[in-house]
Amino acid sequence: MKGTQHFSRMSYNVRRGLREIVAPDHRVSKDEWALVLAEFGSSCAYCYAVASAENRGIVPDHLVAVTDFGELVPGNIVPACQTCNDSRGNKPWRAFLSTRFPVEATVRIRRIEQYIAVHNYSPRTLESSLTGEELSQYNALVAEWEGFLAKARELQSKVANRRSLAANNLFKPKLLGDSA
Ligand SMILES: [Zn+2]
Repeated sequence: MKGTQHFSRMSYNVRRGLREIVAPDHRVSKDEWALVLAEFGSSCAYCYAVASAENRGIVPDHLVAVTDFGELVPGNIVPACQTCNDSRGNKPWRAFLSTRFPVEATVRIRRIEQYIAVHNYSPRTLESSLTGEELSQYNALVAEWEGFLAKARELQSKVANRRSLAANNLFKPKLLGDSA
C-alpha cells in the first residue's frame, strides 16, 4: 500500500530517536580502548584484519547497540574495521558473523563471548537505566507515538478507499461504453 514503507521508516526513526534520548551516554577512556584493542591483537573482531587503507581503519563497535542500552564500555565494544562495521549495520553481531563468515563464525563468536565473560558485561535495561518518573514519561511518549501512527494509518486507508471508489466509478461507464 502506498505510504506503508514510509510509515515503517518513520516508526523506526522515531523509536530509535526516543531510545537514543534515554540511552546511556558513556565514553570509553583511551586506556580502556587500548586494552580492548590489545585483547583482539589490534585487529577486527569480525574479519581479523588489521587497519588498512582498504578497510578504512579500526573503530569501536557496540555488540549490544546503544538503542538497546548497550554501553561504550569494555565487554560491549570490540574493535571492528569500517568495512565490517558498515556491513553489520543494525544486525545482531552473532547473526552478522554467521552470515558474513559462515565457516569461521563458531570460533569467532566463541572468542567474543569469552571477551564478554572476562569483562562480566551484561547490558542494562530501560528499567535499570531510568528513574520511575523518567520511565513513565518515556512510556507515555511511546504510547503517544503509537496513537499518532494509528491515526495516520486511519487517514491513509480512508483516502485510499475514497480514491479507489472514485477510480471504480470512472472505470464502469467506460466498460459499459466499450461493450455497447
Ligand atoms: Zn573487519
